[in-house]
Amino acid sequence: MSNGFDPFNDASLIVTHDVGNAYDAVVPPIVQTSLFTFTDYDDMIASYRGEKIRPIYTRGLNPTVRMFEEMLAKLEGAEDAIGFASGMSAISSTVLSFVGPGDRIVAVRHLYPDAFRLFGTFFKRMNIEVTYVDGRDEEEVARALPGAKLLYLESPTSWVMETHDIAALAALARSHGVITTIDNSWASPIFQQPISLGVDLVLHSASKYLGGHSDVVAGVVAGSKELIGRIRAEAYPYLGGKLSPFDAWLLIRGLRTLPIRMKAHEQSALAVARRLQAHEAVETVCHPGLANQLAPGLTGTSGLFSFIFRDGIDIRKFSDHLKLFRLGVSWGGHESLIVPGDVVLSQKAQPNSAVAFGISSRSVRLHVGLEGTEALWSDLEAAIAAATG
Ligand SMILES: *Cc1c(COP(=O)(O)O)cnc(C)c1O
Repeated sequence: MSNGFDPFNDASLIVTHDVGNAYDAVVPPIVQTSLFTFTDYDDMIASYRGEKIRPIYTRGLNPTVRMFEEMLAKLEGAEDAIGFASGMSAISSTVLSFVGPGDRIVAVRHLYPDAFRLFGTFFKRMNIEVTYVDGRDEEEVARALPGAKLLYLESPTSWVMETHDIAALAALARSHGVITTIDNSWASPIFQQPISLGVDLVLHSASKYLGGHSDVVAGVVAGSKELIGRIRAEAYPYLGGKLSPFDAWLLIRGLRTLPIRMKAHEQSALAVARRLQAHEAVETVCHPGLANQLAPGLTGTSGLFSFIFRDGIDIRKFSDHLKLFRLGVSWGGHESLIVPGDVVLSQKAQPNSAVAFGISSRSVRLHVGLEGTEALWSDLEAAIAAATG
């Protein structure tokens, strides 16, 4: 299934300038302004009355931000989208638009650790309950749904990369009148279009593949005009996690190459994952592309996955020997990165638990960047050799 938009054969990702662009510039301007002025009193009052939709103040509407939102909505096959200052801002503003004190969320286990912490701290204090389920077990999800307000999905999940039948889970939620959201940062709209699978709201950390150059922290949510309108009416202006015009401009720049970057991440990461799987030092590789077939709705795989070393591999030596793979959080940029599992498990942030995230101390998460498969494999092979015995 897809939304009918082919990112590889549609010029709109490239041709984003409109006829009104200053000096006929090929790249749109950054409308770096906090406010917009009115020609006269009538112009101002018409805008305040909502008779005229135009930018008034950048926390509400900004043309550069709007251009990014329209591009992303098109990629996701959604009617509308809103950009945010971070992925976490998109997540908190979206969820708080639909749940309140006394409500319950059903969430898949092993979700992004900071989303888990948001649910376990603020939401807990607000008396918002979260039931964690194994998203692969549709009966467990069905049992948890009655009476819930929101189904919160992430597929593949963070770190262990569990995949779910998104269409089946979204249909289950719909039958219980429950709104479905998904964090689609991993697959990006190039490899997974959840709206076409029946999901209501699609979230992204745009800091990852959408930006793609590790130079922006941003988020976005896409969905129907009605649901996005609810987020735009309250959470967006009053929680105030707005996307900045400059960050939106960087995202527009990033989206132009998203399809070809995703193909390159996919190819390199799959090759590296297969070689790791065949390596005697490796116990398991958690990569959704290694199964006989991809999860339903997933049409490709990205550059992020994890694997577990067998006993006897010194993960500190392995990490320190790597030259191309740098130690660092986040992912989705041009560069290759690793995060050792035991580092995450020793993080002080609360709540924290290996069970919640599915991380084991012998695991390592890799982001395979764009440096080239053979160079990256040589780097890994040499580091494993240095860490053995
Ligand atoms: C990074 C990340 C987030 C949070 O996004 P920020 O832009 O860092 O706030 C959310 N979900 C997933 C899956 C992520 O990897």
